[in-house]
Amino acid sequence: MIYREIGKLGIKISSLGFGSMRLPMKEGRDGREYVEEDKAVETMRRAFDLGVNYIDTAPYYCENQCEEVIGKALKGRRDKVYVSTKSPIKDYKPTADEFTRWLEQSLKRLDVDYIDFYHFWGIGWDVYNTRMNIPHGPLEAAFKAKREGLIKHLSFSFHDVPENMIKLIDTGNFETVLCQYNLLDRKNEDAIAYAHEKGMGVFIMGPVGGGRLGEPSPVIQNMIPGGVKSTAEMALRFVLANPNVTCALSGMSDVSMVEENAAVAGIEGPLSSGEMAKVKAMMDENAKLADLYCTGCGYCLPCPENIRIPDILRLVNYNRIYGLKDYSVSEYADIKEEKRDAYYCSDCGKCMEACPQKLNVIEEIKKAAGLLDPEYRQ
Ligand code: SF4
Ligand code: SF4
Repeated sequence: MIYREIGKLGIKISSLGFGSMRLPMKEGRDGREYVEEDKAVETMRRAFDLGVNYIDTAPYYCENQCEEVIGKALKGRRDKVYVSTKSPIKDYKPTADEFTRWLEQSLKRLDVDYIDFYHFWGIGWDVYNTRMNIPHGPLEAAFKAKREGLIKHLSFSFHDVPENMIKLIDTGNFETVLCQYNLLDRKNEDAIAYAHEKGMGVFIMGPVGGGRLGEPSPVIQNMIPGGVKSTAEMALRFVLANPNVTCALSGMSDVSMVEENAAVAGIEGPLSSGEMAKVKAMMDENAKLADLYCTGCGYCLPCPENIRIPDILRLVNYNRIYGLKDYSVSEYADIKEEKRDAYYCSDCGKCMEACPQKLNVIEEIKKAAGLLDPEYRQ
């Protein structure tokens, strides 16, 4: 395992982190989903044994059971693993008391005396100003919890525009950030570099693009000479090759996934600088090609038949340009299940009037159906 130092803190984190939102689940007798505890604990402990020293969770993960199961996996290993969880700031009344109540619940469920990295969950600049940084509010309570040793480091997970990530970094209140970054979505790249320059730890969620890069793609797998075994490997190597990234979180469900990811994370220099430049250039070129077709602007919406036009055309791009055939077919099946696919188009033409790309949307979504739906008949 390779470890990376968080400049500001002087602590070393494994470049692969355990994302716990995909612990193995099974249906109970009451029809509800439960974590398969033994398998989940075995999976986490295998990761710890292979050197993973960071685990990320949140109160709602795995039907609210995740924190407790992690608590069990941590027994006897607490001092070797950095634990991260989150405060669902957008879901509670923004007071110091409510902040403390959620923190205490996480401490109890995880069965720990302190949390290493406590995140304000999914914030943007607006949430920071209206719900956190207010008199007697959650941010004050977080500083107090830090003084009391219940939280070691304060963090945020982020779903806003990159400019606002920079503003949050500049508050100086946070030591790490958790954000999206992957081969298909590099918009946070500059903000990530800025966070690193400021000595913060940068943790990446979705290195395999929320599953999009988990499916085979000959285009992506062959981006570097000799190719790689899987799209997921290329995706993970791409994220880890960024020197501004501290750790990539991967949601892992079984021991084999842990072993596969740990092997990739153990590669010294996951991509050479030449390979990285080549991959970026190819992805830029692909993005341009994708934009020539449908930019995803959404001006064609709403469609009177509720058809997911931009999503359907995005899947065509994934298939045609990135070679993500299995992924796009399976996502189209979900759209079909919702009855929001091309079959329901009434040919009203509203979308075509609105499209700045002047796409023949009716024809394109029908072609998409022909491509992605094996049962489609015009
Ligand atoms: S032509 Fe079809 S896809 Fe376009 S707005 Fe009308 S119903 Fe929707
Ligand atoms: S308006 Fe045109 S370019 Fe924009 S999302 Fe719809 S189809 Fe794509």
